[in-house]
Amino acid sequence: MVYCVCGCAVGAPTSPRMQRLFCFLNGRDFCDERESIMNKDYMCSGPLSCGAAWITVTEPDVVKNRVWYSAWDNPLGREGMFKPIEDREGMAHFRKQFAVHSLKAACIDVTALGVFELWCNGKRVGRREAGEVVYDEMKPGWTDYNRRVLYYSYDLLPYLKEGVNTLVAAVSGGWHHGRISYQAYGKDAHAALLAAIHISDADGETTLATDHAWDVAWGGAVRAADIWDGEVYDANLPSSADLSTGLVSLAWEPAITETHDHIAVTPYVGPTVMARSGIARTPASIVIYEGTEDNGTDYGRIHVVRKHVGNGAFSLKAGEAAVVDLGQNMVGRPNLTVRGGKGTTVLVRFGEMLNDSGSAARGNDNPEGSIYSVNYRSAKAKLYYTLRGDEAGETYTPLFTFFGFRYLEITATADVEFLSLDCPVIGSATPEIGYIETSHPDVNRLIQNVLWGQRSNYLSVPTDCPQRDERLGWTGDTQAFCGTAAYNADVSGFFRKWLQDVRDAQCEEGMYPDVIPSIPCVGVGGAAWSDAGIIVPYTMWRMYGDTDMVEEHYASMERYMDWLATTGLRGPVPTYGDWLAYEPTDSTYISTAYYALDAQYMAAMSRAIGRADRAEHYTEVYETVRAHFRDTYCDEAGNLLPAYRTQCGYLLALRSDLLVQARRADAVAALKAKIVENGYKLSTGFVGSCILCEVLGECGENHLAYSLLLQTQDPSWLYSVHQGATTIWERWNSYTKAKGFGDVGMNSFNHYAYGAVMEWMYRHVAGIETTEAAPGFAAPILQPKPDTRREEEIPAGQEKITWAKASYVSRAGLIESAWDLRDGFAYTCTVPVTSTLYLPILTESGVYTVNGKEKPIAGETVTTCGKTMVLTLPAGHYEFHQA
Ligand code: BGC
Repeated sequence: MVYCVCGCAVGAPTSPRMQRLFCFLNGRDFCDERESIMNKDYMCSGPLSCGAAWITVTEPDVVKNRVWYSAWDNPLGREGMFKPIEDREGMAHFRKQFAVHSLKAACIDVTALGVFELWCNGKRVGRREAGEVVYDEMKPGWTDYNRRVLYYSYDLLPYLKEGVNTLVAAVSGGWHHGRISYQAYGKDAHAALLAAIHISDADGETTLATDHAWDVAWGGAVRAADIWDGEVYDANLPSSADLSTGLVSLAWEPAITETHDHIAVTPYVGPTVMARSGIARTPASIVIYEGTEDNGTDYGRIHVVRKHVGNGAFSLKAGEAAVVDLGQNMVGRPNLTVRGGKGTTVLVRFGEMLNDSGSAARGNDNPEGSIYSVNYRSAKAKLYYTLRGDEAGETYTPLFTFFGFRYLEITATADVEFLSLDCPVIGSATPEIGYIETSHPDVNRLIQNVLWGQRSNYLSVPTDCPQRDERLGWTGDTQAFCGTAAYNADVSGFFRKWLQDVRDAQCEEGMYPDVIPSIPCVGVGGAAWSDAGIIVPYTMWRMYGDTDMVEEHYASMERYMDWLATTGLRGPVPTYGDWLAYEPTDSTYISTAYYALDAQYMAAMSRAIGRADRAEHYTEVYETVRAHFRDTYCDEAGNLLPAYRTQCGYLLALRSDLLVQARRADAVAALKAKIVENGYKLSTGFVGSCILCEVLGECGENHLAYSLLLQTQDPSWLYSVHQGATTIWERWNSYTKAKGFGDVGMNSFNHYAYGAVMEWMYRHVAGIETTEAAPGFAAPILQPKPDTRREEEIPAGQEKITWAKASYVSRAGLIESAWDLRDGFAYTCTVPVTSTLYLPILTESGVYTVNGKEKPIAGETVTTCGKTMVLTLPAGHYEFHQA
């Protein structure tokens, strides 16, 4: 029986934060990110359609003859950590001077091979958003430059003046021909610009498209710039902004035109990379040291001479070093204002951790208290800034690189004074729309760690990590985390762009690469990695109800499925297994399970876009793969064969319903027993961990999921929290207080994959859920599952979570869900449309109140976690209480 509660007004967001978000998101078209981001009125038709030619410049010998070395040979190590970045004598600059008379309108369509920035008449070109000028960073972002580059459109009207104007673009290697490119775009890939300036003035309509009449030159204040390595800046040389005043000059020459006909130039899609407002970090502490002192270890400890707390103003003498702690591992760049003598050079190095003792055996790379940076491997990650010597101080923010870090180490060649220092966070500007908080401070820290991992790694493409010589679009990490990401933020535009990259990267045979945009040294078709090409669009459709993305990607997915059909039911390539698991699971088993999952998702997406025939086909594929799975991996009774009875093995089988019905309950019991026997600890890697709690939640074992969440021993989510993590780490034990730093070959402190547990928190702890039948929360499900573990179910030392609250700005509107066990059982929710609530019955009284009115408890269903009432809730705000 379904019990209906009616008559409540449509609920308004209850917290100020949510009220803000609600207004913001409701006033905005979710689907067309570009329209809201680029100013539509000034949108032009694209540079290529105006006959623009790619233009380039002659590189100096130091650039032309540079030696490419393989990143993963790790040639730096401890010895190389302080090696300077080679001076490249500047960067590519492009200039156009033009006159306007009684200007009416002007805009530019522009893109580059490399990372570009634009200045006009001395000002950096940005755009207006909510009444403020904002800037897009790291343009044009990363796409497969062998196939596509995205162009941006900017209104130039605010920058132009009557008479002669100067526009300057500077282009660095970026993802195109910087080290991170792995030479994917050719050994001689180099900077190029494509642009069209459209002017409407007294002389009529004019278009100034890039051609040999533009000026080009190599040089400027940025002497070298690279995403992995950092930037070298000499403020005594003309800046790009200075060059755009027209008052200073380089040795300008006519541009060289060239063709790149194989590269499609298409409009920008999705949110741009920006400095994220409101979350810039300022120093939590600044420790100044000079030299080291003995503490009985290999490198000793830093000799502290001064400490500052709270802001970025401090003085630094030559020979001293400042260790600046931002209190949070993040991605961005420092914005510093410094005063000192002309020609003095400030060096900034970056680290995610501090050396804890100076002991090499514990993995320390330098003295206790100094920054630990050997895990950046061959990424030099440094900034050099040479001062002009301005009396009032000078401000520097690098524009052609970014870093993953919590700590900065700053030194200078002569005494200097820092007047201010803060660190803007940069990343793709995906609006944050989800929120969870609990009574448990460690869980709240974990939630923050997941969020910071997302902010750090969604930068143009979804990456594995943001700091070392990798920062790649690893697809396994992406598929594991995208569900969590879609709750935390509106990532639909971000993934619409990335799915274009996915299609561009798809191999002729149909496989998707394991890294997208693809690079030459990584494989294709890896199980649980390449399947991101199916899992991501499915997740976006389920979360946002957007069938356009499915339609756009459908043909590509069919090609992938056609390739899978050639693998003899094995499925994708068994490559990475359950990556980094403590208990390995057979890789081919994982492949088959993913093949089944792909078929399930294809059937659902086919139905969603009205392709009943294909839905039927993929249901048949699923059934064939499932039969193969049972034949290959199960005994006659339908139990998994012993070799596959790992935690991950059970999870994959349960998630895709691969076992015969009669054996499902046994598998759940066996999985539970394995976890309990393992001391309530997981043993899974990237593949198993991302579904662990969710599968338990769906199989009626949510109590066990709580016990895993609140586990504090290695491996567990709270273990790294207890070791000091402020982001999710690549390994459960990337650093331990007991043993120090993990294997430096692969040890990122900002790797979000394990953060996928947060999806379970939204879907099962707070219980905010959508369905395939009504995707995009068109008919939300609320299934709060409070921590009602009985004493005997709670592992020693764990405390229960006594309350949790969450909100989510879904496509249907704001959803809020909060429970509190401190005084009976209180449950509060807000739903924007008619929803179904599965309300746990936690007291014996037989009645409960809703918005103060007493009702009889009715319509019970029983699950292993207790009894539940099923209620239909029209849009509104509800407060339930069971005394
Ligand atoms: C990356 C991972 C990735 C893996 C694939 C690593 O180097 O950092 O996150 O998924 O390789 O095996």
